Amino acid sequence: MTVLFDRVALIGIGLIGSSLARRIRQDGLAKHIAASARSAATLATVRALKLADTVTADPAEAVRGADLVVICTPMGAYEEVAKAIAPALKPGAIVSDVGSVKRAAIDMLAPHLPKNVTLVPGHPVAGTEHSGPEAGFATLFEGHWTILTPPPGTDPKAVERVAALWRRCGAKVEVMDADHHDHVLAITSHVPHVIAYSIVGTATHLAEHTQSEVIKFAASGFRDFTRIAASDPTMWRDIFLNNRDAVLEMLGRLLEDVSTLQRAIRFGDGEAMFDFFTRARAIRRGVIEAGQHIPPAPDSASPPPPKAVPHRKAVKKPARKAARPKRRARGVRNRP
Ligand code: NAP
Repeated sequence: MTVLFDRVALIGIGLIGSSLARRIRQDGLAKHIAASARSAATLATVRALKLADTVTADPAEAVRGADLVVICTPMGAYEEVAKAIAPALKPGAIVSDVGSVKRAAIDMLAPHLPKNVTLVPGHPVAGTEHSGPEAGFATLFEGHWTILTPPPGTDPKAVERVAALWRRCGAKVEVMDADHHDHVLAITSHVPHVIAYSIVGTATHLAEHTQSEVIKFAASGFRDFTRIAASDPTMWRDIFLNNRDAVLEMLGRLLEDVSTLQRAIRFGDGEAMFDFFTRARAIRRGVIEAGQHIPPAPDSASPPPPKAVPHRKAVKKPARKAARPKRRARGVRNRP
């Protein structure tokens, strides 16, 4: 086992920070783990679970002497954390993070960090709807992407050291521009959460008796939306506050597509619906072929991985204004 860092400091140790701590400890990736959290309750849990060698409420104390600092707090705390740790950072240290929006992460962290440290922002595209240090597990990142978004001119050796850590955590690593990351994640993760929060919100506005029927007969589509909508409100508030432009752009496009579909449904345009659904199905095949259809495990609320949809080369189109098409039960399998 190769030790990658002498001392790693995790600032914030909830789902993501504790999963990282568990994997680093399990595989001996660092000689010493220092962890910092805000509340006495979290600090006590981290001590009880033996997730770190030193546990402190003071982020500056945690980062002292660390070769690698990974900020694992909600993004709303980034500026406060950066200001607190900056004077205590070791010259030559690498500062990384796991935040879900990368341009804002750079904007909030970089101005406060001393020149003699290297910022390598990161985003593990893995998670569950659970929070806190008890929710983490060592295999969380296994088989999932971690995206690194180093600003132009970042020392490639530092990028490679962070990439090596994520690979040893079982992740596949991709390096990309921060703005590009935010656009891609807006449509693949952030807008699906807008939809989940909205659809669950709509259900809660229904009359009481209908609401209980919704819960009783929750089919896989709605059930999966409730799982996504159970994600941490702080984290998602921070994501929408920090990726506003990309999310609004993607939402605009989505609403245009919803209107197209709404029109097709209103006018009974079976051909338009069939074409729309066929294109969507092709995307699903692409997701399966890329191995991105497996939900994070262990996540008891998640459905089992769906079977691949078989290719149907010759699909017969229904006539325009066809009789009502047969219903098919197709679950939504979005990840948080
Ligand atoms: P979490 O389980 O809620 O843990 C957050 C941690 O940060 C806790 O230890 C918390 O300490 C600490 N913290 C909160 N506010 C703080 C503050 N003002 N100062 C210092 N520490 C503070 O959150 P998480 O799910 O691990 O998410 C952490 C980060 O990972 C977020 O930036 C999120 O965007 C990113 N991320 C999350 C997921 C996901 O699915 N959850 C996936 C990828 C990336 P206390 O408990 O003491 O408050």
